[in-house]
Amino acid sequence: METKKVKLGEYDIMNTLGTGSFGRVRLAKQKSSNKYVALKMLKKIEILRLKQVDHIISEFNILKQIKHPFLIEMSGYTQDERYLYFVLEYIQGGELFTYLRNAGTVQNEEAQFYSAQVVLMFEYLHTKNIVYRDLKPENLLVQSDGYLKLTDFGFAKVVEDRTYTLCGTPEYLAPEILLNKGHSKPVDWWCLGIFIYEMLAGIDPFNDEDPMAIYQKILKGKVKFPRNFDNEAKSLVKHLLEQDVTKRFGNLKNGVDDIKQHKWYETLNWKDIINKKIKPQYIPVIQSDYDTSNFATYPDSTELPDPVKPQDDPFKDW
Ligand code: AMP
Repeated sequence: METKKVKLGEYDIMNTLGTGSFGRVRLAKQKSSNKYVALKMLKKIEILRLKQVDHIISEFNILKQIKHPFLIEMSGYTQDERYLYFVLEYIQGGELFTYLRNAGTVQNEEAQFYSAQVVLMFEYLHTKNIVYRDLKPENLLVQSDGYLKLTDFGFAKVVEDRTYTLCGTPEYLAPEILLNKGHSKPVDWWCLGIFIYEMLAGIDPFNDEDPMAIYQKILKGKVKFPRNFDNEAKSLVKHLLEQDVTKRFGNLKNGVDDIKQHKWYETLNWKDIINKKIKPQYIPVIQSDYDTSNFATYPDSTELPDPVKPQDDPFKDW
């Protein structure tokens, strides 16, 4: 689908689905088609204040070019003097985070099912030299058929060589980001290791109340596994949570195949994942096209951010 410039007046804007660094994502209805979309609204004044113009340009360009069954699609965009608006497909099943929190831990098979989709997402993005840099269960949405869609490309970046910006979520930061050595695609494989660990153990491997203590644990690199943690999963996670990027799975000469062919995935058919032939264990309950019950409820907000003057607006020609 081509991304088109749209008019805000075409949409009825409804309740909040989630919040991000620069504003909210709201449910909206396209009046002409009665179709529901998720409208990501980004406050221009905040983007400028936090000096995030380049990140937003990057997010926008990446959203325009990606097309994959497990990645969010942007069908349109628009703006006014206060906001940029990205029109995204509405994913009704809520964040995987909510499901995992309620479940506590998941069994091997379900962890394989979800993580395999993440492997395919990263495989696709990396072939386009896009590093995602912000994997976490909050950014994985559950579609009505139980499969995942990755959202929030706010930290994603086209990286030919290495990049240096510190970004991501404390628990998921790779050591090379903390050491400011320059980082690239292997950070995503590190995050995959954290994600698999978190699903199977119910907690992330370097958890702590204090972010500084998290960073110390990450740099120390000792991963403790609960006793009942599957042995093959443990082997894969160790290869992913490898401090030395030259030894980290996903970054060796066989690339992603080292991960796909790892013994933990032995019984998984990768084609069946991409073709959605495997029946997910969890299918979200969805009552209607506009059902938002799988999302948390947010108090409504009527606050209006200050407008940005055209001469200060780097987005005015979009
Ligand atoms: P973001 O600012 O992109 O991280 O989005 C913030 C939150 O809004 C996400 O964590 C989701 O809960 C929700 N959200 C974002 N995109 C969508 C979407 N396409 N469909 C449904 N909910 C979304």
